[in-house]
Amino acid sequence: MNAVTDVKGWCPGILRPMASGDGLIVRVRPRGGAFSLETAAALADLAARLGNGHIDLTRRANLQLRGLTEDRLPELRTELATLGLLDPDTETEAVRNVMVAPLAGLDPSQAFDVRPIARAIDDALTSDKRLHALPGKFGLLVDGGGAISIASERADVCLAAVGDALAFGLDTAKGTQWLGTLPPAQAAEAAIAVAHAYLAVATRGRMRGLSEAAVARVQAAARLSPMTGLPAAGGRRLGLLGGAVGIAAPFGRLEAAQLRQLVKLAADAGAADLRLSPWRAVYFGVREHTGVFVLEEARDAGLIVEENDPVLQVEACPGAPDCKSSSVDARGDARRLATIAAVHGYRGSIHVSGCAKGCARSLPSDLVLAGKAGAYRLIRNATTRGPVERMIGVEEFKTLFGETQDD
Ligand code: SF4
Repeated sequence: MNAVTDVKGWCPGILRPMASGDGLIVRVRPRGGAFSLETAAALADLAARLGNGHIDLTRRANLQLRGLTEDRLPELRTELATLGLLDPDTETEAVRNVMVAPLAGLDPSQAFDVRPIARAIDDALTSDKRLHALPGKFGLLVDGGGAISIASERADVCLAAVGDALAFGLDTAKGTQWLGTLPPAQAAEAAIAVAHAYLAVATRGRMRGLSEAAVARVQAAARLSPMTGLPAAGGRRLGLLGGAVGIAAPFGRLEAAQLRQLVKLAADAGAADLRLSPWRAVYFGVREHTGVFVLEEARDAGLIVEENDPVLQVEACPGAPDCKSSSVDARGDARRLATIAAVHGYRGSIHVSGCAKGCARSLPSDLVLAGKAGAYRLIRNATTRGPVERMIGVEEFKTLFGETQDD
């Protein structure tokens, strides 16, 4: 097996790292959407000891260790195996793409705990080798409703609590199409049956690329009852959330010391684990009266605890020096730009990219800066591939909001 790949379009794993500008990236997939505090602490130590201490929170609710080298991989894999995070082969690792509602089992407004469903799906994906033929990015989502829902995130197969049942949806070109409901006890089995049905009609691509006839064949495997209501749209919320807190990492990047700090805060607040989310934020339960202190400490550690933090308005990839395709410090410049934009009350979406590839965001943004030769292409209302208005240097950022350079 080739241990390292830089083939685009694949997600890096523990068994198949991906090369990047700062070394190898290893993606660690949690089971059931959470890492125990012991595991999270061990991952922080591994990131600092074997990598460069940088940790990514991904949009598929995984965690990535960065800056690894080939000679460190055997030790890393041994340690991750001890933590129960090493899959037997690359196929098993690649197929375990299950996102789980971050407050599952913590939010009293959820009708039931969806984690057993997610674990049953994960177990089936692991043990049923026929499912290892699923396309690499084929993913499933299990949502519990309540204060924070992930039901509006995109996944090939979606299960989302509506009352005492689960709504069942498939991804289409227009987003999730909710097709019917089923009892929680049948949900995992139905999701796996649908995954098999997908393989009967396609071995590549994604659910959203199927014809209507093919979708109908796939859907039939789930044996659904009529819909009784749509899942709540939900979305990211940060700060104090009843008996839990939500804390985001700027641009999805945690440092090992920040992860250790989160583990300590979570332990002191009585939490059992750290929950990952597709919003590059972590969640954990807090005992009564401890949440405010936790959030203050997290803010002091450089993390984001409020929805109105200006950094959340900006998407940015790592840029230089982490990515060899970039000539600009995209994240450092994105922070500077976020501060200036906030001063001017700018509310539009901003994307700062290290190069024209635009890894951090594929959708258009109101304001786009794409790095080139130490400066940025200025693009508006488009993706990084849109028409270039002009080149702009960091020292000119304030001119984007009406100031002159001498102001
Ligand atoms: S957008 Fe360019 S610089 Fe940024 S991570 Fe992707 S390839 Fe690297």
